[in-house]
Formats: sequence, structure tokens, C-alpha cells
Amino acid sequence: MTMTNSMLINGIQVTGDGEAFSVINPATEDAICQCNMASVDQLDQAVAAARAAYPAWRDTPDAERSRLLHQIADRLEANADELARIIVQEQGKPLALAQMEVGAAAGWTRYNADLEIPEQVFEDSDSKRVIGHRKPLGVVASITPWNWPLMIAIWHIMPALRTGNTVICKPSGMTPLNTLRLVEIMNEVLPAGVINSVLGEAEIGSAISGHADINKVIFTGSTPTGQRILVNSATTLKRLTLELGGNDAAIVLPGSDVDAIAEGLFNSAFINMGQTCAALKRLYVHESQYEAVCQKLATLAEQQVVGNGLDDTTTFGPVQNANQYRQVIELVDDARNQGARILCGGSPSADKGYFYPPTIVADVCNGTRLVDEEQFGPVLPVIAYQDVEQAIALANDCSVGLGGSVWGSDTEQAGQIARQLECGTAWINNHAEVLPHIPFGGCKLSGVGVEFGLEGLLEYTQLQVINAPK
Ligand code: NAD
Repeated sequence: MTMTNSMLINGIQVTGDGEAFSVINPATEDAICQCNMASVDQLDQAVAAARAAYPAWRDTPDAERSRLLHQIADRLEANADELARIIVQEQGKPLALAQMEVGAAAGWTRYNADLEIPEQVFEDSDSKRVIGHRKPLGVVASITPWNWPLMIAIWHIMPALRTGNTVICKPSGMTPLNTLRLVEIMNEVLPAGVINSVLGEAEIGSAISGHADINKVIFTGSTPTGQRILVNSATTLKRLTLELGGNDAAIVLPGSDVDAIAEGLFNSAFINMGQTCAALKRLYVHESQYEAVCQKLATLAEQQVVGNGLDDTTTFGPVQNANQYRQVIELVDDARNQGARILCGGSPSADKGYFYPPTIVADVCNGTRLVDEEQFGPVLPVIAYQDVEQAIALANDCSVGLGGSVWGSDTEQAGQIARQLECGTAWINNHAEVLPHIPFGGCKLSGVGVEFGLEGLLEYTQLQVINAPK
């Protein structure tokens, strides 16, 4: 399969003038494509193109923008196989999961296409009518990570376009190819300049966050990068949505039906090889059921078939990149050195590729790096607790607060405990479920703002109040 390595600026394919880099297949460690980063001058050209395209796109009737988004969803579905295969080769996930990612991308596009912003009426009295309406912001820049590269790009781009903004998107240099292709496909439908792509890492990223002619940055990635963006965008007072790292805790209540919840716990922790912002990353289990839960999880882990995502039998792919792979190795080794029990997995594969088997680590506690730091990989620490108040305190003893969950047979009790968790979403007997119509965002160092649903859409708009006497 030939994969495009060109950026798209103002509807024209261009090669970056900046540094060359290789996109690596994490299953083979082979370079699958050579790309070039954009120069800052090319970023300026992309911003100028988006700025020039903005008035016409802003003034395009709402129904027409909705129709065009549906057309994009049609094209995503028509090109689903190609997009899924690109994702597997640069990101590593098994093909079925990549197909799910493309399906979700199309679904999110359609959801945004159909979303309407109601007019707000603040006062409608004898003397005056005061309403609020929503205007687009202008040029929006999207900066995405490498874990769910296509889906997250769609999460950023579609609400921006739906509300009449034009867009520059900058994918992660680890997984740029699916986004370059996405922008090509979108340009078959949209006027030139409405969506543009640029390649680059920190230099282009900081040129984006400091750019005087970009009105908003929507960023998904790590907390330190999000903090840099926040600082750098202060001078231009940009709107920001920051979806950052998490270290989600789950609490299994005493008296749980272990057989009923084990698979849900496992899938919540290991979705996308654990490389999911809102995956379950710390599991607190009451001491009465600790061994039973640990053993069930280890059994499920051992059933996984680790391999290249393009092989039919593979259920579990590699870690996406060498840095993350080293991070997982380091955290598990550190836990082992502190006396943790490795129930399964626990060492990298000797084969080529960044393969690390699903790993369950017992006899750890807060204060161990594996528990305190976001592992963002295929390893789950399981911590025993004595009483529920202690479990809540341990779960909240964390600088980030993206998601959390409570598992148990008494859903009333689980609901009360869920409310005490310091996180943006608390699930009950579930974890990591994100849906286009349900707002999602973090608290503490997990971010600023929300995505999805009407609340998410409104973040791409400016409220204007019209105050009219009668
Ligand atoms: P990262 O922060 O290293 O990179 C994310 C993006 O930021 C990349 O496109 C990168 O090129 C760009 N970037 C790097 N330096 C920049 C700078 N100075 N200014 C602007 N942009 C810059 O994150 P990552 O390693 O790609 O992703 C993993 C992290 O993302 C994890 O911490 C994970 O929890 C988090 N994440 C969060 C969510 C969420 O919704 N909250 C979703 C997915 C991933």
C-alpha cells in the first residue's frame, strides 16, 4: 500500500521544508514511510489559507455544513479498509480494533453533522428580548497524540467545522499517516483551505500555540505538553481545550461477583494495549476478594495472542513506540525490585517489535512508581484495601483526575462512592466508555474543558448576547 506523506495546505499537496523523519511500524521496527516536518513558514501558509477560507465557511448555511459532514462520513466508510490498515501499520493495534476506530470516526462525524445549537433566551419580557447566539471562533488548531490517532483527530476537527471554524491539524509524528490521508479525503468534499494538515513536533507545536492568527487550540496529549501550550498561548489569549493524561482508579467493592466483572475490568485496563487516556490504570480490590480478582485477571491476560496487528489471530498488539515501551519495562522492573508479585507477563518479548505481554502486578501500593505514574501501556497494578473509605482516599491521592470507576453488586452504594471520586467521569461496573453525545473531560491536571455532546460543541464557539428593547 502506498501511503501519502504529503501535507495539505490550501487544497494543495506539499512536502515539508523541515527535518526528515521516518514513521516506524511498532510490530517490525521497520520504517514504513519517510516524511518531512513543516517549516514555520509553511505553518504560516496553512494558517493564512485557513484564515482566507474562514468567511465563506462561516457564512455557509448550517444545513449545507451538516450535509458536507455527512458526505465526509460516507467517504470515511468507503475508505475504511485503507484507513484501518494504515492505522495498524503505524500505530500497532489489531486490525479489528483499527476497524472499530474508523467506524467510530464515521459515527462521531455523523453525530456532529446532526447536532444543532439551540438559541438561548435570557429574557423575553414586555420591555426587552435578550438572546444568546453562538459564533465560530475563526481558525482552530488540532494537536493529536499517537494512541487513537484517527478517532481523536475526528473528535477535534468535526465540531470545529460543524460550528463554522476552519482548521489546521497537526498529528503526532509517530502516527501521522492516517491523518494525512483523512485530510486528503476531506478535501475531496470541502473547499480549499477549510482543513489543512501540517507535520512537526515541539517546534511546530509551540509555533501553533503562540500563533497570533489561531483562535483556539484543541490538544490531546500529555500533561507536561498541555502545560506548555497553556503558557505559550497566554499572550494571544487563545481558547483552549486540553485533554491530558490520566491515571484512572477503579474500586471493586466487597461482595462483588468476580466472575461477572473480571472481563469488564480486564478490557477496561488493556483496551488498545493500555494506551488509552481513560483506561483503568490502578485497580483497588477489597482484601476479601483480592486473590480471586488477581487470578481471574491473570487468566484473561494469558489468553491473549500477542502479535502483529495484521495477523488474523492477534488479539494484542505492540506498544506504539520505543519510549513508551521502555517506560513500561522500567515501571514493571521498579515494582518487581520493590517486592511486587508479577502474576503474568512482566518482561518484554525477545522478538523484534515493541511487544510486551499483558501484565498483572500484585502486592503493590500507592508510593510505587507503577501506581503513582501513568503507565500508558499493557500493565495493571492491583492494590488491596481494607475498607472503602481507605480505597476512596487512595484513589483520590493523585494529581490527575480523568476517569474512575466503582464495581459492585449494589449499584446504589457504587453510585454514592462514584460521586466522591475526583475525576471528570465516574463509571459504575464499566470504565473508559466514551460516546459522542456524552461530555467528557478531566479535572485536576487531566485538563481544561470538555469534548462531545452539546457542551463539547459549544467550546468551538463564542457566545454573543443580543440585547434588544421592544
Ligand atoms: P505528547 O504530549 O508527547 O504529544 C502529543 C502531541 O503534542 C503530539 O502531536 C506532539 O507532536 C505535540 N507536541 C509536542 N510538543 C509540543 C509543544 N511544545 N507544543 C505543542 N504540541 C506539542 O503526548 P503523547 O505521548 O503523544 O500521548 C500520550 C499522552 O496523551 C498520555 O499522557 C495520555 O494520557 C494522553 N492522552 C490523553 C487523552 C485525553 O483525552 N485526555 C487522550 C489520549 C492521550
